[in-house]
Amino acid sequence: LDHEEFRRQGHMMIDFIADYFQNIEIYPVRSQVKPGYLRERLPESAPLNPEPIETILKDVQKDIIPGITHWQSPNFFAYFQSNGSIANFLGEMLCTGFNTVGFNWIASPAATELESIVMDWLGKMLKLPSSFLFSGGGGGVIHASTCEAFLCTLTAIREKKLSIIGRENLDKLVVYCSDQTHFSLKKSVQIAGISPENFRPIVTAKSNSFQLCPESLRLAIILDLEAGLVPLYLCCTVGTTSSTAVDPLGPLCDVAQEYGIWVHVDAAYAGGACICPEFRHFLDGVEGANSFSFNAHKWFLTTLDCCCLWVKDPSALTNALSTNPEILNNQATESKQVVDYKDWQMALSRRFRALKLWLVLRSYGVARLRDFIRGHVKMAKHFEWLLAGDKRFEVVFPRNFAMVCFRVSPSVIPNDEDVNEFNRNLLESINASGGAYMVHAVVGGVYVIRLAVGATLTEYRHVNNAFKLVQDHANALLCTF
Ligand code: PLP
Repeated sequence: LDHEEFRRQGHMMIDFIADYFQNIEIYPVRSQVKPGYLRERLPESAPLNPEPIETILKDVQKDIIPGITHWQSPNFFAYFQSNGSIANFLGEMLCTGFNTVGFNWIASPAATELESIVMDWLGKMLKLPSSFLFSGGGGGVIHASTCEAFLCTLTAIREKKLSIIGRENLDKLVVYCSDQTHFSLKKSVQIAGISPENFRPIVTAKSNSFQLCPESLRLAIILDLEAGLVPLYLCCTVGTTSSTAVDPLGPLCDVAQEYGIWVHVDAAYAGGACICPEFRHFLDGVEGANSFSFNAHKWFLTTLDCCCLWVKDPSALTNALSTNPEILNNQATESKQVVDYKDWQMALSRRFRALKLWLVLRSYGVARLRDFIRGHVKMAKHFEWLLAGDKRFEVVFPRNFAMVCFRVSPSVIPNDEDVNEFNRNLLESINASGGAYMVHAVVGGVYVIRLAVGATLTEYRHVNNAFKLVQDHANALLCTF
């Protein structure tokens, strides 16, 4: 690794990425390539001899960029955004530059200690109860994804419960959630070896804003107990993927506590917003939960991967996930004075992710981070206002954060046309244009188009353009009748 050559190529790469951002709006937001496009363009085997970076970068421009869906485009309104920032990029570079593998404290003390400090900082910004912070006996860890946070917390309580009731009872353990819970919980349940038959997505209703109802939870628990099953884990969501619904944490935790159930709060998308005092009430009741996670890699100027997980009882994680091979034995671990994060996660090896979060927190400060989030919320409100000005559209679910669920109203769609089908065609037509990218959800049988404002570069003009695009494509489709 020649440092002068690194400097030369590094500068070239920064220029390349800066140019990419400068020109990002010229690219269709959703990639327009067909499956298998890249195999047709690239050689069948790796080159025998080295190739210069200049040639490789030309190929990135020519072959890779067409196959990129531009998540950093200001016209990206799909899924939930994964936004980034200069601070985060620089933190990522440092992380890669040091390339430490901080599985335990001694493998890189700064990696562990910075992660613990940053997680306490963030926990305080979110006003989590002190019992979730290291300073209060709990603690936080950065995982790659919410799926990993689900799996590790599930495994923690599974092991705790089985140590009490006996391993032969694994097939009696039950996991509760709502039918709006992110689909990755189901996968985590499967990986954790819990019977798929004991996965209980409880039905929600529009009349209840698609929140998980505490009484429905209680009913499900009682039925399971009567059937000889063992309630284990409840996942509540703050900001569901389909409609950003918020489960009532306090009452749900009260029910769960009565039955000794571990409560995990998944605030993957909306958690970041709760650093703003006006959104913090969505976390009311979190004090009754056992674990809480949010994805800084969604709405917190921090790129993938950065899921922040806090637990009140770290020993539940470490009892379930610890490994103690001879090669890792060291005095610091034996002293029990340090955190060995390998025992808080699935994998052994881990990146120094705290660096990028630390740079983001320091470079922006809490005040600017709040303003950044508020800016997106205001733009989402603006989009709602635009919709309200055209009676052909309707906002289908109340907006809690910066995502608007809308559709062309059934009243303007000709009788024989299915309203869901019409909106499906509308969305495909918008996305095929490349001018913006949105995705849909089906909630309570209703097909909605989701516009999630959250890309770092998005400004009002992009939201206005998105609305114009929606109108133009709706006009074209309505005219075909
Ligand atoms: N939970 C919610 C509410 C989400 O919206 C998402 C992703 O969008 C996830 C969990 C999954 O997150 P991850 O991709 O980090 O596993």
